[in-house]
Parts: sequence; C-alpha cells; structure tokens
Amino acid sequence: MQDCKTAVCLLSGGLDSSTCLAYARRQRFECHALSFDYGQRHRIELDAARRVAAALGARRHVVMPIDLRVFGGSALTGDIAVPKGRGAEEMAQGIPVTYVPARNTIFLSLALAYAETLEAADIFIGVNAIDYSGYPDCRPEFIAAFERMANLATKAGVEGRTSVRIHTPLSKLSKAEIVRLAEELHVDFGLTHSCYDPDPAGRACGQCDSCLLRRKGFEEAGIADPVEYA
Ligand code: ZN
Repeated sequence: MQDCKTAVCLLSGGLDSSTCLAYARRQRFECHALSFDYGQRHRIELDAARRVAAALGARRHVVMPIDLRVFGGSALTGDIAVPKGRGAEEMAQGIPVTYVPARNTIFLSLALAYAETLEAADIFIGVNAIDYSGYPDCRPEFIAAFERMANLATKAGVEGRTSVRIHTPLSKLSKAEIVRLAEELHVDFGLTHSCYDPDPAGRACGQCDSCLLRRKGFEEAGIADPVEYA
C-alpha cells in the first residue's frame, strides 16, 4: 500500500482552488497542480497559482496553454466588460457574462488526461455551489456526471484498474466556511488572487462578483483579508 496517493489538483490561484489544494495535501495526497493559461483577462492569477503551488508543496505545477479567446463568448476571454457591484439577489439570477463556455468540462477533461498519465485516480477541483455566480459547471450534478463519464472514457477506467474520483471538498461550504477552512489549513491568503479585473498594478477591483463573494466571506468569517483592493 502506497503511503501517499497521487492526485491532480486544478489550481487557478484563487481562494477556493488554493484551499482545495491545501485540503488535498492534508489528506496526504501528493499533488500535481494544474493551471491553464487560457487567454484570461490577466496573468496575475497565474503568478498567484505558481506561488500557491510552491507554498503548499505541490509535487509539480503545470501551466498549460490553451487559448479560449479563439472562441471568446465570455467577459473573461472576450471583449465584454466584467460586471461590477452586483448584489446577492442579482447574482442568484441567471448565468453572468463571466461564465466561460464549458470551462470546467475542458479543465476537468485535461486534468483527467493528466491523471491517467500519472496513473492517478483522484482529481480535486475547488467548485462551490453555495456562494457562487451560478455557473452550471460548478454544480454537484455536473461533477457526478463528469465522474461517471471519466470512468467510461479512460483506459484505466475500462480496465477497472482504478475508479476515477472527482473530489469537491468545498462544494457545500459557504464562502465564510471556506475562509475558515483555509485558515485552519494555513493557506497564505496574501498569495491568492480572486479578482476578475485587477488594475494595472495588480490590485483587486473589489467590485466584480469574485471580489464581492470573497469580501463577504472574509467579513462573515471575521478574518482580515490581506489582499489589497484598488
Ligand atoms: Zn474584482
């Protein structure tokens, strides 16, 4: 029996994926962190991902280029403004323009391919279905369906050597609970970056959905966020 199992952990450099990686490490997984240079609005989050992967002791950190700007169709990959100052009620209605078409399907598929090369059966993704922007590919039913598909789609799955498991430890946590968990896991909040639309100096805007959810989480958890806002 191996002392340490191998996992692939999707890592954007934000609070949730960083906490998810820290959680996987505490579960004694040897983690291969996977980030995507997908044509997002800024590279600051990739710098954050590199810092977080190193700080949390990822075995390896892969940054894979995949240009989703070729398709566009999102405020994160196209010429569409990032919405600012939306209230919780507004966020609860519909799917905002920051949704990147099929992003988690694409990211999980590539994580699955990476995992199969490593003979790893475990994939971690920091999706959350409580304090979130309503993205369909963050919901538990999507993750369950992807997991079923993964076991049908891979050589490892078909040969029955391994049963792929998609871990979503943050799925049912509020943002405040994620902040508390992150603190318990000694995540260095200052290394993470959540903002969709930082200023040229790299400071978070404080007003996009991602910033607003993060700020609400820290406020409710009663913990100070060291991240600097513009
Ligand atoms: Zn922001």
